[in-house]
Amino acid sequence: MEAYLAELNDAQRAPVLQKDGAMIVIAGAGSGKTRVLTYRIAYLMSQGVDPFNILSLTFTNKAAREMKTRIAKIVGNSEAKNLWMGTFHSIFAKILRFEADKLGYPSNFTIYDTQDSQSVIRAIIKDMRLDKDVYKYKQVYSRISSYKNSLITVKAYFQNPELKEADAMSKKPRLGEIYQEYVERCFKAGAMDFDDLLLKTNELLNRFPEVLHKYQNRFRYILVDEYQDTNHSQYLIVKALSDKFQNICVVGDDAQSIYAFRGANINNILNFQKDYDNVQMYRLEQNYRSTKNIVKAANSIIEKNKTKLEKIVWTANDEGPKIVVNRLLTDGEEGRFVASSIFENRMQNQMSNGDFAILYRTNAQSRAMEDALRKKEIPYRIYGGLSFYQRKEIKDVLSYLRLLINPKDEEALKRIINYPARGIGQTTMDRLSIAGNQYGKTIFEIIENIDHLDLKINKSTQTKLNNFVNMIKSFTILAENADAFTVADTVAKKTGLVQELKKDGTPEGIARIENIEELLNGIKDFVEGQKELADADGSLAEFLEDVALATDMDKDTGDDDRVALMTIHLAKGLEFPYVYIVGLEEDLFPSGMSMNTRSELEEERRLFYVALTRAEKQAYLTYTQSRYRWGKLVDAEPSRFIEEVDEQYMDYMIPQDDYKYKPLIDTDIFGDDIDKSKLRQSKPKKGTPPPAHKPSESQLRKLRKLKPASPEPQKATNAIKLEVGNEVEHMRFGKGKVLAIDGVGQDKKAEIDFENGGIKKLLLRFAKLKLI
Ligand code: ATP
Ligand code: MG
Repeated sequence: MEAYLAELNDAQRAPVLQKDGAMIVIAGAGSGKTRVLTYRIAYLMSQGVDPFNILSLTFTNKAAREMKTRIAKIVGNSEAKNLWMGTFHSIFAKILRFEADKLGYPSNFTIYDTQDSQSVIRAIIKDMRLDKDVYKYKQVYSRISSYKNSLITVKAYFQNPELKEADAMSKKPRLGEIYQEYVERCFKAGAMDFDDLLLKTNELLNRFPEVLHKYQNRFRYILVDEYQDTNHSQYLIVKALSDKFQNICVVGDDAQSIYAFRGANINNILNFQKDYDNVQMYRLEQNYRSTKNIVKAANSIIEKNKTKLEKIVWTANDEGPKIVVNRLLTDGEEGRFVASSIFENRMQNQMSNGDFAILYRTNAQSRAMEDALRKKEIPYRIYGGLSFYQRKEIKDVLSYLRLLINPKDEEALKRIINYPARGIGQTTMDRLSIAGNQYGKTIFEIIENIDHLDLKINKSTQTKLNNFVNMIKSFTILAENADAFTVADTVAKKTGLVQELKKDGTPEGIARIENIEELLNGIKDFVEGQKELADADGSLAEFLEDVALATDMDKDTGDDDRVALMTIHLAKGLEFPYVYIVGLEEDLFPSGMSMNTRSELEEERRLFYVALTRAEKQAYLTYTQSRYRWGKLVDAEPSRFIEEVDEQYMDYMIPQDDYKYKPLIDTDIFGDDIDKSKLRQSKPKKGTPPPAHKPSESQLRKLRKLKPASPEPQKATNAIKLEVGNEVEHMRFGKGKVLAIDGVGQDKKAEIDFENGGIKKLLLRFAKLKLI
């Protein structure tokens, strides 16, 4: 047996060794589904399958890169490079570029991000003179998005009176018209939105049998990770591509399906067996990620869901510590607790910042965590939220770049035609827009012909417009031969963007210049990286595609050591030794917007299951007693999910002594017979001490199990006296040499160069060192 196959257990090896046919691996979190996909690809290649014939679809591009690296280690780098791996969006964007002309798109089509799409929709609502309070642009966008993901085209929409009726019922009878106009404007701008990347791929495969055959023959082996979260549009693409050879392997966990709100369809997993001939079903049961405590606690939660496939998950790992539950007064306290706990754990257990993750239900919760981490000087990184590429100054530069690649791109053009100011005002823009509609041309084309059209635009403005177009064209010419960095650098300088910010002189202006520098550095790295690839050249078009399709995870360069902060949705597939799940409160998690039906509540519960199963060694659950929501301080109630975890796996902490009152008495939240209505009554008003009722016997039993908030400061385990030059040994980092010592008493630190860990600064109070 090949050595790498020994790194799998029997159950994992079976789907890896089944070379052909359709197969599905259904298994709980941490059981090695992603590992099976990775090893399966290596095995296929070892059996002579050409990597060009393997297509593998993952949840993030980062996951794809990691898999590729692992495979490269097994089969060699040069072969692994040729694998097609990535997210649905990035893989099919590539294919669409090859085939764009068939669908009437330019091959340099722009990919509109959510912001761009919403901006187009907002303009349409305005142009149609609709009430913007009824037609909220974000709502309209997500409605259109869900139509697209269900493959309901504009034509299909108008053929189905029920859809129109449903929209009329929600007071939006003209939604169909907005949809139609939106599609037309995008098409005219040579732009596809995110959903189009899937919709148009479906269109391509349906309408052009020769194209379908080409890709069916190309992708003889198809693998899909996180199959439970594929939507209808993705499902159909996979089905069409795999129809001929039926060599398809999907892995997933119905208990981790968390994207139904975005159209993911769990039936894709449930119906898989009907979709292909002779489907082999595999199950994995052993979890390698987490401690017994975490695995059992997670099982006890997911058990509460009625809709689920029965699964067994067990682990041979250590029992591990119990899950710590803590109640804090406010989100500020919650942040401080988490930051202190990370600090302690890092010191006591010699962990790195990157070993910790803080997970929350909504992005807004990150602020309190950030404040506390900053105060403790713990480096962190936030994933999601407003991404780097969506910052104003970055988007400005990118808009120039987009426009020079695709002059039809109206969103880009509108953004920068008068930024920095060139004296091209709104009236002029309106005239250009109207002319564009009249002649069926884009604004850029109208400007190109401005001297021959009578648009009542005065001569001096015409000159400004001509200058603008000529500048963009000169960039386009440059981009034909130069790499992405050269073009972007020229754009930043020649357009006056950087000078404009320099003039500004405020700290914000300076920060913006730094961001632009960071962007340029990023582009430089990208160009260097691309040059090493077989089928890439570091062009601007490649860079823009990379940016447009970067998922939130992909900006992790992994080169520095930080605590990770992200929503649970983003954490799917990841793992961390320590996980803090914060804000476990009713109305927040489960979300107040997702408690109307059983299926919504079950999705929230799966989300909790996903969160908990990210933890390898220890999990923490926290909630607050009051929290600012929509600008008001409201009483918070502990999440039902806390009660749902079997209490034998939990360790309840009492809040620290410096709290305003001793909540020891107010323990009925952990009582055996939890009655929510009573709970609400018994909750103390802010500032007033809670009624001092005597705890019941069962409460007392629980109280005795409580433990103090912060672990006892460890006594100096290290009586040894260290000096610079000493040779020491550390449990994890091995042998090392002391480089420097500073601080006194409790704070004494040593800088040590370890054989296995490089240079580390350790607090001697906690570092378990041996002198050798
Ligand atoms: P999730 O459902 O969260 O996506 P998963 O089923 O994809 O989880 P993996 O991420 O593949 O699980 O594996 C979880 C962890 O267990 C990883 O760190 C992986 O390297 C490790 N692991 C899996 N199988 C084995 C094995 N046979 N031996 C040792 N480690 C393993
Ligand atoms: Mg996985």
